[in-house]
Amino acid sequence: MTQQNIRNRLGLRPVINVSGTMTALGASIVVPDAVEAVSAILTEFVEMGDLHRRASSIIAELTGAEAGFVTASCSAAISLAVAASMTGSDLAAIERLPDTSRLKDEVVIQSGHMVGYGAPVEQAIRLAGAKAVPVGQATSAHAYQLAGAITELTTAAVYVVSHHVVDYAQIPLKVFCDTCHAHGVPVIVDAASEYDLRGFLADGADLVLYSGHKFLGGPTSGIVAGSKGRVRDVYLQNRGIGRGMKIGKEGIVGTLAALQAWKARDHSGIRARERQALDCWLDALENHAGVMAQIVPDPTNNPLDRLKVFVDPNEARITAWDLADRLAAGDPPVIVRDHEVEHGFFYLDPCNLHPEEEFVVARRLGEELDRARKSNVVIATPFNDRLLAREAAILKWPD
Ligand SMILES: *Cc1c(COP(=O)(O)O)cnc(C)c1O
Repeated sequence: MTQQNIRNRLGLRPVINVSGTMTALGASIVVPDAVEAVSAILTEFVEMGDLHRRASSIIAELTGAEAGFVTASCSAAISLAVAASMTGSDLAAIERLPDTSRLKDEVVIQSGHMVGYGAPVEQAIRLAGAKAVPVGQATSAHAYQLAGAITELTTAAVYVVSHHVVDYAQIPLKVFCDTCHAHGVPVIVDAASEYDLRGFLADGADLVLYSGHKFLGGPTSGIVAGSKGRVRDVYLQNRGIGRGMKIGKEGIVGTLAALQAWKARDHSGIRARERQALDCWLDALENHAGVMAQIVPDPTNNPLDRLKVFVDPNEARITAWDLADRLAAGDPPVIVRDHEVEHGFFYLDPCNLHPEEEFVVARRLGEELDRARKSNVVIATPFNDRLLAREAAILKWPD
């Protein structure tokens, strides 16, 4: 079966992803080396402890950490890292989780970092049996509040690096780490969607967590990097709550291949191709009334730009969300990045495109904008109706 027809045979729509690396769309395009490695290992036996050892050394090489571990997802990695902070290498305590009696079980986290990535960060902490202790307010947090939240029951601190978090008046990572370390509390950094494989450890993080299936282009996986002792304690959770979050041989081998490929990746060539896509869309949008587009950098400094597309419904005769929905319903479906669309804009993300797809996106934008301009009324679904319809649809699955 070829890549071209698998979606067809399963009755799935051939979506074009200009949304970003989204779990809901199948994450990312897995790099060829990882595809090959996954397929090569599937029929073979391996000694999993040795495969995990191999993974550890490759993660160590890329991150500058002492050791590394591959798990099912970054979300799993948050739960397992928190579990490890509570149990250490006590195998009996590992088997007792999520019962945390006699263990320190409080995890401090800034309120502005208590976000969701499809599920709540805070729930990933609770899944281990721990409690999240919020620090500061969503709109600001200070080092004194962090210090004040740490008690004799504090087992770890979680710090989230993401476009999801409140992006002002939060405690900088270095200050956060210094404050936690002054109180003997280790810092777990959720850097699921970040390119920087070294900076967070350099800023003082004790464990850094990544997704293998985001920018790295691996199969679904999570990566943990840190000191040998701490990473070992995370690995040992596979004998406890980690069992339900296990990754198979194919996931580990694929992630390793993606990490190796990352070292050799032509990052500037990729940036140049992404830039061509952005320019193509800028051109396509230029002469459309009520549409303003602007290239903007990634909010967490990943080396990635997106096109921010503002839609003035009075001029364009369609709201930004109706345009997004029509693109998603079209042929082929084009899924834009629309999580702030109530403000009248969406983004086009060029980092998950197959060759030539940028032209299809440009054509579809033009078609829908032309159609809207000819409309006698402004196409404007009340935003609240759209929101509630989406929630209602989830509850009807699998219908
Ligand atoms: C995507 C994401 C996660 C979850 O990662 P998975 O590997 O998909 O479980 C966690 N935290 C942040 C900030 C994310 O962006």
